[in-house]
Amino acid sequence: MKKLLAFISAVALAASLAACGTSTAQPASDGSGVSGTFTGEAAGQGGEGNPVKVTLTLENSVITGCTAEGPGETDGIGSKAIDSMPGAIAESGSIAVDTVSGATVTSNAILAAAASALESAGLNPEDYKKEVAAAQASAEDVTKTADVVIVGAGGAGMTAAIVASDAGKKVIIVESQSMAGGNSVRSTGGMNAAKTKFQDENEFGESAGVEKTLKSADSFTGTNEETIKDLAKTVSEQWTAYQASPEGYYDSVELFELDTMIGGKGLNDPELVKTLAEKSESAIDWLDEIGAELHNVAAFGGASVKRIHRPVNAEGKVVSVGAYVIPILEKNLNDRGIEVLYETTANKIIMDGGKAVGIEAVTSAGGKVTINAGAVILAAGGFGANNDMVVAQNHPELKGYITTNAAGILGQGIDMGVEVGAATVDMDQIQLHPTVHVADDGSANLITEGLRGDGAILVNAEGLRFYDEVSTRDKVSDAENNQTGGYAWLIVDQKMLDASAVIQGYVSKGWTVTGETAEDLAKEMDMDGAVLAETIEKWNACVEAKEDAEFGRTSFAEKLEGPFYALTVQPGIHHTMGGLKINSNAEVLKEDGSAITGLFAAGEITGGVHGANRLGGNAVADFIVYGRIAGESAANYLK
Ligand SMILES: Cc1cc2nc3c(=O)[nH]c(=O)nc-3n(C[C@H](O)[C@H](O)[C@H](O)COP(=O)(O)OP(=O)(O)OC[C@H]3O[C@@H](n4cnc5c(N)ncnc54)[C@H](O)[C@@H]3O)c2cc1C
Repeated sequence: MKKLLAFISAVALAASLAACGTSTAQPASDGSGVSGTFTGEAAGQGGEGNPVKVTLTLENSVITGCTAEGPGETDGIGSKAIDSMPGAIAESGSIAVDTVSGATVTSNAILAAAASALESAGLNPEDYKKEVAAAQASAEDVTKTADVVIVGAGGAGMTAAIVASDAGKKVIIVESQSMAGGNSVRSTGGMNAAKTKFQDENEFGESAGVEKTLKSADSFTGTNEETIKDLAKTVSEQWTAYQASPEGYYDSVELFELDTMIGGKGLNDPELVKTLAEKSESAIDWLDEIGAELHNVAAFGGASVKRIHRPVNAEGKVVSVGAYVIPILEKNLNDRGIEVLYETTANKIIMDGGKAVGIEAVTSAGGKVTINAGAVILAAGGFGANNDMVVAQNHPELKGYITTNAAGILGQGIDMGVEVGAATVDMDQIQLHPTVHVADDGSANLITEGLRGDGAILVNAEGLRFYDEVSTRDKVSDAENNQTGGYAWLIVDQKMLDASAVIQGYVSKGWTVTGETAEDLAKEMDMDGAVLAETIEKWNACVEAKEDAEFGRTSFAEKLEGPFYALTVQPGIHHTMGGLKINSNAEVLKEDGSAITGLFAAGEITGGVHGANRLGGNAVADFIVYGRIAGESAANYLK
């Protein structure tokens, strides 16, 4: 609750008692207006429990200063609005300033908190909504030159830019949105990598996971069966040797490949998977070098062992990987002076004699941008936010489906590649994510898979478990679609909440219900308390026995003990596995397998790495590993 902080001018007093906000007001010098500082609050991404605070400085009822704080807002998304909007409010004296696109929730919270601050000053916010002339982007045509031009400032584009710049190349990035990050900044879980220094800090307890994978490989039939059996043979030998003399944490490049190939139902390109696994360890080290430490290692869906690497905050709590890594990549761009043209949408690759030599783009104001370059890297992401394009890949059942993807993920880069002769692969492989929470405002929010790895369970509307929660996303999504109402409840407990800033965020946003006991929780979930209590008891017995006879789950973490928290989840469109065909040098390939000279691609825009189903943590690995390769290959090509 807001408190009255200090001396308040006579004019402000009466109103501030009724309004939301705090003030340190002073009498107006001429008696006609309000002066002082006034604070208002409003719920943003951090919810009511962690609201956005805006402090306005008023002189004679004119806004002359504005600051904002939003500790609950997502780094790299909401933080952009916190950084930019107060300046615009102070400069214009208006609270009708432009919101930051892509950060709508935080932007609206800033405006609501500013209105509340004005109310606490006894002023009418409506009087402060004068129109602000929008800073118009230039509609002029511009031509620029670079060694390497990159389409898309997501994880892959920024990684490629840093590497190409470090190889001495002049890089320009074009980004269709007003901020960097794309889907990458939304990544919550972490990054898969095998044989890292951080894995060795863990005690090995995942024998059942390895055995299960070897069994799956044994019974595997279909595409790339031979590759999978060969990998399993190698893993089996390594596993026997490790058991005879265990040293460090057991994982291997081949086990990473095997998990990825089995998870992808064998449809993956084995060469691309091999490169992903082989270069994952050095990718973790590279991130470390540029200031991003992914120290915490955990179990995740489809991985035999603990392999997903996650960042932790100053209190040691796990935080979202994208919100942590993306601002660090951006800082590295800035440190190197790499130019990013925002609100600039690429639409064409310029070709000359069969070589890619630049791109054409259009600004939000309609100006044409031509960038002539020695090499082009496409890093424009997938097409999960383009429902028409998803449906057109033979998926009529996904019409109108919710998506976890950022607004700019429309598949434009894939179309640009195809136009100059690039082949595509696996375009019909669309991944649903089983744990998407639809908030009261209608937004679709990904609930990280890590919670299941850390011990959460899924129950249906009847309070019963119905599937191995840490199985692959396609299988869990299918199972969920078959439950009453096509949704499930995800249940975590107090100790999981205490260890995770991510779960604390879900609670403060008001997405969860809670109960001291299973029966209390069941009341909030509108289900039979005795059934839920028995489900949790049965699960805790599985944890103790390290065996789940009913559903075959092999990762257990700790027993669930009250107080409990639960939230509803349902499947949503999450990842598009298909895209431009590349080789392991990130060169874009034609149908005949030859490379298009000077054209490279990395990240979700490409196909082949993930096959029919991407494992959680493999896309961040993909954009770092292949982003680095694309940057290196483009620089080498220009040598
Ligand atoms: C909610 C969510 C959570 C996820 N969590 C994880 C996780 O924990 N671990 C994991 O491994 N993976 C995760 N993923 C998947 C992963 O984040 C993405 O696959 C990956 O970030 C893609 O990176 P990218 O650089 O290829 O594309 P993006 O990060 O999507 O970047 C593409 C950029 O290109 C821009 N762009 C598009 N078209 C144009 C154009 N025509 N001109 C200019 N710019 C353009 C876009 O605006 C965007 O900024 C998650 C995805 C989502 C949506």
